[in-house]
Amino acid sequence: MTSVTTARLLIVGPQGSGKGTQGVRIAEAFGIPVVSTGDVFRANIKEGTPLGRQVKAIVDGGDLVPDELTSEIVRDRLSQDDAAHGFLLDGYPRNAQQVAHLEEFLAARGESLDAVIELVVPREESLERLRLRAEEQGRSDDTDAGIAHRLDIYERETAPILAAYGEQGIVDRIDGVGSLDEITTRIIAALEARGLERRTAA
Ligand code: AMP
Repeated sequence: MTSVTTARLLIVGPQGSGKGTQGVRIAEAFGIPVVSTGDVFRANIKEGTPLGRQVKAIVDGGDLVPDELTSEIVRDRLSQDDAAHGFLLDGYPRNAQQVAHLEEFLAARGESLDAVIELVVPREESLERLRLRAEEQGRSDDTDAGIAHRLDIYERETAPILAAYGEQGIVDRIDGVGSLDEITTRIIAALEARGLERRTAA
C-alpha cells in the first residue's frame, strides 16, 4: 500500500458521539490541527465579538449558522500554514451545501479529504451522554429540547453527507461505544490501514 503524507480528515457523528474528544486525540496522533466550527462559534460568543453576537441566538437555539458564513470561517482557517498538510474537521461540513463549499475550496487547491471517520453511536446513548455533559459543563444549548433538536438536524441534514463520501470510498465506520482509548485505537487502526502516517506514538 502506498502511504500518503497528508492527513486531511473529517470526523462525523451525532452530538454526544464523542467526536470532539476523539478528534483532539486523532489530530494529536497525526500532528494536525483540529478545526471545530462549534468551538470557533462558542469562543466568539464568549468573547462577545461581532461574529459571536451575530450567531449567539442561532447557536443557543440549536440551529445551523448560515452556510456561507460558516464556510468562510473554515476557508480562512484552512488557509493558514499549519493546515497545509492536514487538518481534522469537526462539525463541518454539516449539510450538502457545506460539502459543496468544502469540495470546491479543496479542489481549487488540488486537494481532497483523505478519510472521513464516522463515529457510530445509538441515539439513546448519545442522548444519555449529552444529558451528562449538560450537568457537567452547563452548555447553554444542552437543554433537553435543544439536544433533541440538534440530533434531529444531524439525522436529517448531516448523516446524508456520508453517502456522498461513501461513494468516494473514504468513509471509515467506527463503533463509538467503548472506552476512550479503545475508540481512539480503532480510529487510528482504520486510518493507518489507509496508509496515513501517524506522527506520534500511541
Ligand atoms: P457543535 O459543537 O459542533 O455541536 O456545534 C455547536 C453549534 O454551533 C451548532 O448547534 C450550530 O449552531 C453551530 N455550528 C457548528 N458547526 C456548524 C456548521 N458546520 N454549520 C452551521 N452551524 C454550525
